[in-house]
Amino acid sequence: MNEGLMTVSYIGATILFILSLGGLSNPETARRGNLYGMVGMAIAILATVLGPKVTSYLPILIAMAVGGGIGLFAAAKVKMTEMPELVALMHSLVGLAAVLVGYANFFDTTIKLEGVEKTIHEVEMYIGILIGAVTFSGSVIAFGKLSGKISGKPMLLPARHWLNLAGLIGVIYVGALFLHAEGQAALIYLGIMTGIALLFGIHMVMAIGGADMPVVVSMLNSYSGWAASATGFMLSNDLLIVTGALVGSSGAILSYIMCRAMNRHFLSVIAGGFGTEGGAPAAGGMQPEGEVQPISAADTAELLRDAGHVIIVPGYGMAVAQAQHTVFEITKLLRDKGVDVRFAIHPVAGRMPGHMNVLLAEAKVPYDIVMEMDEINDDFPETDVAMVIGANDIVNPAAQEDPNSPIAGMPVLEVWKAKTSIVMKRSMASGYAGVDNPLFYKDNNRMLFGDAKKMLDEVLSALKAG
Ligand code: NDP
Repeated sequence: MNEGLMTVSYIGATILFILSLGGLSNPETARRGNLYGMVGMAIAILATVLGPKVTSYLPILIAMAVGGGIGLFAAAKVKMTEMPELVALMHSLVGLAAVLVGYANFFDTTIKLEGVEKTIHEVEMYIGILIGAVTFSGSVIAFGKLSGKISGKPMLLPARHWLNLAGLIGVIYVGALFLHAEGQAALIYLGIMTGIALLFGIHMVMAIGGADMPVVVSMLNSYSGWAASATGFMLSNDLLIVTGALVGSSGAILSYIMCRAMNRHFLSVIAGGFGTEGGAPAAGGMQPEGEVQPISAADTAELLRDAGHVIIVPGYGMAVAQAQHTVFEITKLLRDKGVDVRFAIHPVAGRMPGHMNVLLAEAKVPYDIVMEMDEINDDFPETDVAMVIGANDIVNPAAQEDPNSPIAGMPVLEVWKAKTSIVMKRSMASGYAGVDNPLFYKDNNRMLFGDAKKMLDEVLSALKAG
């Protein structure tokens, strides 16, 4: 393939990536967005492999077969609830690729540059390896935290901000030495910087508490984009530069949206220390008052049948129980009986952005009854039953009522304002942020204890029987 055709293919792929991002912004067009992305990536790979820079196909075909095989296997095997871990692992690979490409560039003796061009190339290499190494080690730790292999508790070293600052100054100083060094000495400086960057990535994510993990996942997504972009500069590949920048900036925008959804400042997230281990109530905050009132599946069905307006709030537990199909069966049945049923989606519900939308779309819940938090939060006072399915942190009134709560200020779905709220979960355990939930003790709240799928099946049978 000649240069001209390759450039045209790259422009076509870039346009498809932009259309893909546009499509992914809405559940109704997400499928189309994915398709654009897949076609764009196929064109990008073909144009690169068939381009003038590639002289030997066999190693590329072997690498594509191995990488593609692993990717296919992982995607087919991964459970929806394990998706964030997979995404974190993928980010780590992008970071590792940037590091390897950087070192390959360093050892490449065919690159002969002089003067300013040489300096620019060395700066690209240095920054590429730096971002890649931070992304790699940070993503590996994020994978460990999300999968529970590493504790979600923030690791707060004394003087941690000073440590970070020392790392930053060290990286700049070593960078200056690297630019003036040659051969063995330059390699040693590159090695020192890589070591600092790896430690920085580990330290940065270890210091972040469980409750801030959504922001970290999207932040690492952004870093992986910038790492890819830096790789593009090293390889003089325009498409990689543009695609990396698209991923980098969309990840940064997503991090900003997540921060807003959690009422957190980006810098304080990076500074770390927010949220504790999931499952155990966090220290600080008021002890909830009142009594827990359990309810049976039959009584839940009765309340739903008599209701005019119902809002369903799905959370992480619905994903664990895979209850989305039963939820939709119940929704259909109630809607057929004339009950107005809608869904309220919190921006950080579940364990990844858009987690609940994906599950509801999979169960074929119509998009027009799936509402964002801002669209529906004011409607709870006019709602007869708010049914919370495996959600906890996102419906915790302590965020508004208790200034000392670790999640104070985080916007939440105000389910307690409905006539009756029903929380479906297995026990009184806290959610991901490890914060006790006063909702469970409110007068108008009922607890339907049990696995969400099992309890919803019982509610469905009771509704059918009635
Ligand atoms: P939570 O983690 O707060 O609560 C989920 C609840 O589901 C648990 O309290 C658990 O209680 C219950 N549960 C678990 N399994 C089942 C089951 N099989 N049947 C019924 N209930 C079950 O989830 P939310 O969705 O409310 O909030 C999301 C949290 O995750 C937030 O803190 C958010 O910051 C964080 N997070 C979000 C990410 C994102 O991008 N969306 C990424 C990473 C973290 P019990 O054990 O008693 O059943």
